[in-house]
Amino acid sequence: MIDKKIVLHFPRSLVNEPIVYKLIEDFNLSFNILKAQILPDREGLMVMELHGTREDYNRGLAYLKNSAVDIQLLSKDIKRDEDKCTHCGVCVATCPTDALRVKKDTREIIFDSDKCIACELCIDSCPTKAMALHF
Ligand code: SF4
Ligand code: SF4
Repeated sequence: MIDKKIVLHFPRSLVNEPIVYKLIEDFNLSFNILKAQILPDREGLMVMELHGTREDYNRGLAYLKNSAVDIQLLSKDIKRDEDKCTHCGVCVATCPTDALRVKKDTREIIFDSDKCIACELCIDSCPTKAMALHF
């Protein structure tokens, strides 16, 4: 089980949608809302702590991202050491959000930190230890 703090930025079009309710119903997550600023017909912001299995957490975050909610993870971040990365591609299959993917023309491995949900799956899979957690 894991606990993660995240910040959600809701676009105006989603403020009245039951997005957070679905995290409980569809993804078995529980949460504490630490801060919320959501007004009808305006953009919203919510700081919350999510609790659940890693698999449910990853599915829940993928759902949020697909719903156009902007997510910011608090306290930690995944970074790639460009000097250590050999572009071997091993990490691509482990990444659930396509934050790591192959660039078609050059076969380079792209790391898109905006898509990364800090699930940490790539850290163990990388043979050169290029992927690391930063607090
Ligand atoms: S597994 Fe590591 S070395 Fe290989 S492409 Fe991914 S980050 Fe780079
Ligand atoms: S931590 Fe690694 S595997 Fe997980 S989403 Fe980020 S880049 Fe992909």
